[in-house]
Amino acid sequence: MYERPRTLEEALRLLDEGGVPLAGGLFLLREKPQARLVDLRDLPLSTLEKRGNAWVLGATATLQQVVEDEALPDFLRELARTTLPHPQRAQATVAGALVAADGASLWAAGLMALDARLALHRWQEAPREVPLGDWLPLRHEWHPGWLITQVRLPLAPRLCWETVRRSPADRPLLLAAVARWPRGRTRVVLGGWGDAPHLALDGPTPEGAEIAARNAAHDAEDHLASAEYRREVAPVLVRRCLARLEAEA
Ligand SMILES: Cc1cc2nc3c(=O)[nH]c(=O)nc-3n(C[C@H](O)[C@H](O)[C@H](O)COP(=O)(O)OP(=O)(O)OC[C@H]3O[C@@H](n4cnc5c(N)ncnc54)[C@H](O)[C@@H]3O)c2cc1C
Repeated sequence: MYERPRTLEEALRLLDEGGVPLAGGLFLLREKPQARLVDLRDLPLSTLEKRGNAWVLGATATLQQVVEDEALPDFLRELARTTLPHPQRAQATVAGALVAADGASLWAAGLMALDARLALHRWQEAPREVPLGDWLPLRHEWHPGWLITQVRLPLAPRLCWETVRRSPADRPLLLAAVARWPRGRTRVVLGGWGDAPHLALDGPTPEGAEIAARNAAHDAEDHLASAEYRREVAPVLVRRCLARLEAEA
């Protein structure tokens, strides 16, 4: 079954009846083609704008829209560009790429480092705003019925990331995303293994970031790399990010 609602209200009702949100379809149409699809494309959720002290990314904006929007910070545009190649990023959406993210998702790791907040709506319930870092590991409990309508990012921090890949075409086997606020607050996120990126540090300064990175990679073992390797290399990636952020400050 396929539905294409024109209002948020109608979409929420269809989701409450068991529908599954369809955004770019890059993941969904491969994994769950039999689902009762609720196509989000006609909903007014695709704008990218500055609102107050935040960037507000509409849930159905594509990563390519982010790349092309010159009003957005360069690091955010570059994050979207690096996450997925064309033509996939012309299809993948801001929210779809978070729901479908695994631990190697640069998009999820970068937005988590920036302390992104999700606006979540459900039929006949008050909307909620949830930190991405709290939601990502529990997202399968929110699904189904909840709809992400937007992602809010603070204006203040800058973001830097480093990855290790077997080849430029491969997904990262290790990544570090570091966000730094003007007064020193620093968030470090690691990824490359598991179901979601991992928050290693959220501190008032960068102090201890390398040790935190090493600790966060403690059990980071999978078929791509050993935990020992990731424990050794993660602090190096974090150090490089911090040096670049310092140099740009
Ligand atoms: C060939 C290929 C290569 C890929 N490479 C990478 C990669 O290198 N890095 C990476 O990070 N990812 C990669 N991915 C994963 C990709 O990022 C996701 O498949 C894609 O971003 C999903 O976005 P979408 O908009 O197409 O979502 P869809 O496929 O439409 O939906 C994905 C999931 O999100 C749910 N959903 C969508 N929108 C909402 C919403 N607003 N509220 C609540 N739930 C919602 C859907 O119900 C579904 O469960 C790859 C995928 C493919 C097919």
